[in-house]
This record gives sequence, structure tokens and C-alpha cells, in this order.
Amino acid sequence: MARKLIAGNWKMNGSLAFASELVGGLLSRLEQNSTAADFAVCPPAALLGQVTGLTKGTALAVGGQDCHANTSGAHTGDTSAELLKDLGCQYVLTGHSERRTDHGESSADVKAKSSAAIKAGLIPIICIGETEGQRVSGDTLKVVEQQVRESLPDEATSVNVVLAYEPVWAIGTGKTATPDDVAEVHNFIRGLLDRHFDEATDGKLKILYGGSVKPSNAAELLGVSNVDGALVGGASLKVEDFWAIGVR
Ligand code: PEP
Repeated sequence: MARKLIAGNWKMNGSLAFASELVGGLLSRLEQNSTAADFAVCPPAALLGQVTGLTKGTALAVGGQDCHANTSGAHTGDTSAELLKDLGCQYVLTGHSERRTDHGESSADVKAKSSAAIKAGLIPIICIGETEGQRVSGDTLKVVEQQVRESLPDEATSVNVVLAYEPVWAIGTGKTATPDDVAEVHNFIRGLLDRHFDEATDGKLKILYGGSVKPSNAAELLGVSNVDGALVGGASLKVEDFWAIGVR
């Protein structure tokens, strides 16, 4: 069975001391245990150099939280995918709902960023998901299909991207989609991907679930068909909780 990916999105949280402690805690657990899941952390950009320094040569992967679509240039405050790669990252989040909302990112922007990530040798974790209003009006699958179609770059293959289904209403709210809701959307995305790619995807493209995942609901959510891992926000900030989500 394919290994699950448990990715932690620290958002705009952390400090030098916090990163040392959290990463140190994860590394010592990874050294002492064999796990059926792979772990990745996505710290804020300013902490990436420190974190990749600590994780170099270890089983803990690192991702950025965003990248620019261009390789360099006059883009104050932005980070290129090349620089993330140079720093030692393996992943980058693209299209997180907080970027889509706070920075007005469209799926076309997300596609361009994801394409830049693949070209730089990173795996973009492309986030998609419906708002509460869209779910209530019965548009979840329509929205998800449109976001998948418009956000997936042309270079995407079944192994160089990861998708994360994150219902916006479940992010940071404590509300979690039911296993049936998650199964419906993940099975739907799997069907879309099987039709999208020429080659058989064999379920290889990972589809993570994200939205208030915590130790108490992780086993149930990660047991749903076509859930290949979790994107974890709040609970990734406590080493015991993050570890417990991936190791059950
Ligand atoms: C996220 O930030 O992607 C997320 C899912 O957050 P939380 O787990 O806190 O809902």
C-alpha cells in the first residue's frame, strides 16, 4: 500500500526557537520509529533555511507555503520555486484557500505557480475546495471539478503533483467533513484524474484531505477510500498531535 503523506502547514506561526523544538521532536520520533506515513512540514518562508538545515539527510520533508510563477525578478516579498528548491525544499503549497482569499489568487495563478514548482523540481501540493455557501447550494462537485481542471498544470503527471481537498468551511474552524462527504469528493477527484491523464494513474497521484484534522479524527478520515494523507494546519503546531495523526 502506498505511504500516506502527512503535511503540516504552519501558516504564519512559529519562530526560530519553535522551529528547532518542533522539528527536533519530529526528527527524534522519526529516528526511533518506522512509520507507514511520510511527514512534511511547511514553515513560513523566513524559517525555511533553518528548517531545511535541520532536516537535511533525514526522512522529514520540507515545503514552502507559496511560490511565485516567475523564476526571478521585481516581485518584492515573493519567493521563487527555484529558491525553495535551492534551500532544500521538496514541496510547495499552491492555491491554499487563505492565498486564494487573502491574495485574490485565481486557479489560473495557481496553475502558473504549480507549473513553476514542477519546473524547479518541487512537488506542488495544489489546494482546492468549496466554500460553505457552495456546499449548501449543492455546487461542491462542480466547484471542485473546475478548480482541478483550472489549477492542474500541463506538466502534471500522476507522480509530480499532490492535490489537497480542503473544504474552506472546515479549515481552522474545528468543523470536519464527514467521512461520507470526504469519500464522495475524493472518489470524484480520482475519477476526474483517471480521465485527465493518458496513462493509468493507478491511484498514484496523492489526494490529501485537509480541514481540522486532529488526532481524534485522523484514523477515520485517513481510512476513507482515496484519502492518501492529510494537510494539517493547527494540529501540526504541536509535535505530539502532528505525530499522532500520522502514526496510529
Ligand atoms: C490548512 O491550513 O490547510 C488546514 C487544513 O488547517 P486546519 O487543520 O487548522 O483546519
